[in-house]
Order: sequence, then structure tokens, then C-alpha cells
Amino acid sequence: RVRTRFAPSPTGYLHVGGLRTALYNYLFAKKMKGDFIIRIEDTDQSRKVEDAQRNLIKTLEWAGIVADESPVHGGGFGPYVQSERLHIYRGYCERLLEDKHAYYCFSTSEELEENRQLQLKQGLQPKYNRKWLPEEMGGAMPSSEIRKKMEEGSPYVVRMKVPDYISVWFEDMIRGPVEFDSSTIDDQVLMKSDGFPTYHFASVIDDHLMEFTHIIRGEEWLPSMPKHLLLYEFFGWEPPRFAHLPLLLNPDRSKLSKRQGDVAVEDYIRKGYSCDAIVNFVAMLGWNEGEGTEQEVYALQELIDKFSLERVGKAGAVFNVEKLNWLEKQYIKHRPTADIINTIRPVLAAELAKRETLLSVDVITGDHYLEQVIELMRERVGFEHEFVTFSSYFFFEPESYEEEAVKKRWIPETNDLLREFTAELEVLEPFTAETIESALKAFVAPKGLKAAVLIHPLRILASGVSFGPSLYHMLEVLGREAVLRRITKGID
Ligand code: GLU
Repeated sequence: RVRTRFAPSPTGYLHVGGLRTALYNYLFAKKMKGDFIIRIEDTDQSRKVEDAQRNLIKTLEWAGIVADESPVHGGGFGPYVQSERLHIYRGYCERLLEDKHAYYCFSTSEELEENRQLQLKQGLQPKYNRKWLPEEMGGAMPSSEIRKKMEEGSPYVVRMKVPDYISVWFEDMIRGPVEFDSSTIDDQVLMKSDGFPTYHFASVIDDHLMEFTHIIRGEEWLPSMPKHLLLYEFFGWEPPRFAHLPLLLNPDRSKLSKRQGDVAVEDYIRKGYSCDAIVNFVAMLGWNEGEGTEQEVYALQELIDKFSLERVGKAGAVFNVEKLNWLEKQYIKHRPTADIINTIRPVLAAELAKRETLLSVDVITGDHYLEQVIELMRERVGFEHEFVTFSSYFFFEPESYEEEAVKKRWIPETNDLLREFTAELEVLEPFTAETIESALKAFVAPKGLKAAVLIHPLRILASGVSFGPSLYHMLEVLGREAVLRRITKGID
């Protein structure tokens, strides 16, 4: 049975790259009828952020990515938080020390830094100089020295002993065969002086013990592969299969960065993007269905059905917000009206708690009214909340009038014409888009005027702005009372 995992460090928000990793792991697992697991990698205690774990899981669930096993859902392979597994790592560390695949290192950070500078000066790639590699492991340090340091209680780390001059090889599911020369690999720290494992050590042990079949993660972890593969070999474990996802890029093809836009999923949620659009967008960052498909809008279930790692590319994927905006509009266009009503009702309630309206609250919060607003605005909003915030004139009196538009659209006679036309609107029966339109045309024609002389001022007085849906339909939805009130107020 396929088992995949998303293994975030709880250092704050969920990065869009993290969402993509989680999504691909989820899609792949679900497609293969397997399990998707969340494991929290909190071995770097200095970077730990309170509540981050809860936020991560909550944000993933918002996106529809629900784990089969996790710190909150439980499961048969727990605990799922690495800081609760320290005893496990210690045991495995003992084993590597006994098998002489690892050794104690007492070098201080000053010594390490000095050594690094020296190697850099010599044009070498900095590596630990193996000062503390014991004699019996081919190093120069007598065991008596090591024992002495231990007895003194000096702080130490445990390092893995990387074999010299061997080649480490694996087959990446996206990149194909990848080979590393062991002489470029540092003697990686496995256990830190605070008794916590490093990421490399803990993640290999957990990936094995939790029986993952596929490790899907960002390309930035590719250089760690030889260390991981050596650990599998030291323990005599069969490694899972690996897939390293392409980098996410800014539109200028530099590595995706905060400086060029938001990178936290939470930021996009706050702006009003829907989970469907975000998931769809993130899914396309590196994956596509294949040549000859024009489809761009996918629901989560469809992504599960169609996803495959073979269709994930190697080339960096450009993060293009325009595409996300476009997808959001597609979703709004096709979302059932009842669903939109459910989303915007709380938004409207919050607005109504803040400002007063002269309209009937019962009417404007009712299904019928909201349905009409949605029908008129569906193609015009960029986010669902904009049904309320962008077309607020359906719910509140305009607070101001677009100045430029007033300047451009008012002629000396405008107010008189509006006053005269208002008298007609007062008695118009019924008050519908069609009757308003014919009344307006019948009103201007004998005067030799164009409909525009009334259309634009009417729109500005009714809504405050110079753009929007069909004027006649907007007036019908607002209703006679509101329309007359707004015109009268505007020309007083
Ligand atoms: N904790 C690592 C991260 O934050 C996980 C890397 C991996 O998936 O192995 O990205």
C-alpha cells in the first residue's frame, strides 16, 4: 500500500511551495488508493513557532487535504511529532556508533569556523576535517582522548562517517538517475549537542519506521540524498522511492521570494481566494495533464484521478498570480449560487454590524435578493467577498460619488432632467428592468436627447460609481424606493 508524507517544520506559516508538496503527496497517495500522512519535523527547537503545527494542519484541511495519519488524527505509526520521538533516534544513534558508522565529535564552533575559513582560503569546499575521527575508524584520535572528553562532560555531536571515494546513486522518479561522489559529502552531524537529531537523521529513521513508499519533496532536498542513502545503507534498510519537485520561480525566473509577492498560503486566503482556485493553481505548478489537453480548470477529485509523477516536469515552475486570478474568476463563474450565498452571508453580516443601511435588512439578506445580486455581478467580481465589498451599493447607500465621472457626465440640464424622470419612475408599473428601459427611452426621444444623458447620471447616483452591471437590472434589484431616494439625495 502506497504511503506518502508531508513533513513540515513548524516554523510559521504554510509556504505555497509547502502546499504544493503536500498536495502532490496527497494526490499521489489518493490516486494509488494509499495513505497520506503528516509528520511534524520540529528538531530545530530554535526555529519552532507556537501554534504553527495547528495552523499548518488547519490550512491544509482548508485546501481539502486531510491526512489519514497526523498528530491530530493519530494513527498506528505515531508519535507524529519528532520531538516526541527522541528516544527512538538515540537508540539508532547508538547502533551507528557501535557499528562504527558514526563517531563523537568535540570540535567547538570556533574550531569549525576556523577550519572552514582555512579551507575556503585554499579554494576547497568546506568539510569537517575529521579531527575527532577515532583511530579505530581510520582517524587520528586515540580512544583515550575521546574517553577523557566524555568524562569531563564536554559537549559533543555525533557525526556520520561518510565512506571515502564511493559513488552514491539513485533513480529519481522525476529526474531519472542521479549520482554523487562521496568525497564531496561532509561527515554530517546526526545528533546535535542538545540531544536532538538533525533533520537528515530523524527524517530517514522516521521515513523507514513509518513505512513510506514514496518521498515526494522539493528540489532543495536533492543535495541531501547521498547522506540519506548512506544512512539507509548503514542500517541495512531498503530506501523508498524518491521524487524531487521542480523549484518555484518568480515571473522573472528567480527563485520564488517574498520580495516579489506573497508566499504564505494564509495571505492568499486572507485576500479572499477560494480553496478550489488555489489548489488548482498550485497543482499546475510543475504538473500538467499532457500534450493536447486544453483543460485548465480542475476540481480536487479530478486532480486525484489524473495526477501522475511522470507528468511532473524538471524545469522550474513560474508562480504567476495572473493565472491564479483567472482561475478564481472561472470558479466564481461556475460555482452554484447557493454556495456563493453561503460564503457571502457572513461577509454581509459583518458589514451590517459595522455600518447602517437604509435598505430593509430582511430583504437584502434574503436568498432572493442575494441571488439577483450574484446573477448581475458574477462575471464582474474577482473574489467572492466582492459580491458584498465591491458592489456594496446593493446593500448600503453610496457614501460618495466618483468625482471624475460626475464632472464628465453632468451637463447644466442634468438635474432638471433627473427630477422630471423621477416623477415617471414614481408611478411606473411594474418597476422592472424592461419598463425602466422603455420609460427612459420614451422620455429622452421626444427631447432629441441620447439615452446616455440619463443613463450615466442615474448609475452614478444609484451606485456612486461609473461602472457596473446593466443599469436597468441594477435599478430593478435596488427597488423603486431606494432608487428614488438616491436620485433625490443626489440632486438636492
Ligand atoms: N522538514 C523538511 C521541510 O521542512 C522536510 C523535507 C523532506 O520532505 O524530507 O521541508
